[in-house]
Amino acid sequence: MIVFYMDNNLYLPENEILRVEDLVVKFYTYAGVVHAVSGVSFYVKNGEAIALVGETGCGKTVTTRAITRLIESPGRVESGRALFRRPNGVVVDLLKVDPETLREIRGKEIAYIFQDPTSALDPLYTIGFHIHETIAEHSKNIKKKYTFKKAVELLRQALIPNPEVRVKNYPHEMSGGMRQRSVIAISLSNSPRLLIADEPTTNLDVTIQAQILDLLRGLQEQYKMGVILITHNLGIVAEMANRVYVMYAGKIVEEGTTEQIFYNPQHPYTKLLLRAVPDPTKRVEKLESIPGVVPSLINPPLGCRFHPRCPFATTKCASEEPPMIQVENEHRVSCWLFEKS
Ligand code: SF4
Repeated sequence: MIVFYMDNNLYLPENEILRVEDLVVKFYTYAGVVHAVSGVSFYVKNGEAIALVGETGCGKTVTTRAITRLIESPGRVESGRALFRRPNGVVVDLLKVDPETLREIRGKEIAYIFQDPTSALDPLYTIGFHIHETIAEHSKNIKKKYTFKKAVELLRQALIPNPEVRVKNYPHEMSGGMRQRSVIAISLSNSPRLLIADEPTTNLDVTIQAQILDLLRGLQEQYKMGVILITHNLGIVAEMANRVYVMYAGKIVEEGTTEQIFYNPQHPYTKLLLRAVPDPTKRVEKLESIPGVVPSLINPPLGCRFHPRCPFATTKCASEEPPMIQVENEHRVSCWLFEKS
């Protein structure tokens, strides 16, 4: 394997843009310590889209907020590394870089599309001004004339009709779908190398969802960006992701290519998750759901965290945590059923 080597501890394989290792995040609340993310590891290759999937509360958003250092008190990143390759080739640990470097990276080299486009936009400023601010933050002395032209171009790429007019609109003058496209345009204003899209189509109707996905896919190819897609919608994953990480209760329980996860899922949780996706071609009396509820992460279950809901659980599952076991190339699963004797 060819290794890009910058200092004794920070290295990444050449084909990767990000590698997260053993990330641990806890929240110190009055009710107790919430073990939100417990030893999560994953990587993103250059120009590929990965998806973090799982039920609400499984730690997907906390994971990406942690690597961009957006966790606020009472939350704390306890340990782990997030190695990121900057455009100049230097590999940095995002969890340790100084605030000035972090400011350079965030919004320029790594962009984030948050769940709710309305809260990401300031109602007092036009869409054009948002784009101007995002560019100016990283390019001092940039002329408004240039950023205005760039804003129109970005809105056009985001398939917003009449971008010359829309650039002067305030967020409340746009529909939900248009606001989400504007947020995508803003996030692309500095041509990031990595885009984190947190539930980018939630709250949008199905037609608009499809348009936003097409748009993201096209822009990913055009900008050759790595993408981390956070979603609980497996339809979106199938459309967009190259590889999938399934999360449960703050841990990754299965990882593989999208094909492996969809056509050959191994972990009982992944299988149940896929069974719960409604099939429009079949008439059913009752939609499938996963029995039980996601456990409290203040006192997560011992052993395999899925054991209280798992139809295959044994006594070993309730006391010993399963390791990640390779089942095929790029396909790994954390489950005692795959223990090699
Ligand atoms: Fe189920 Fe045990 Fe596998 Fe966990 S380790 S998923 S409880 S069989």
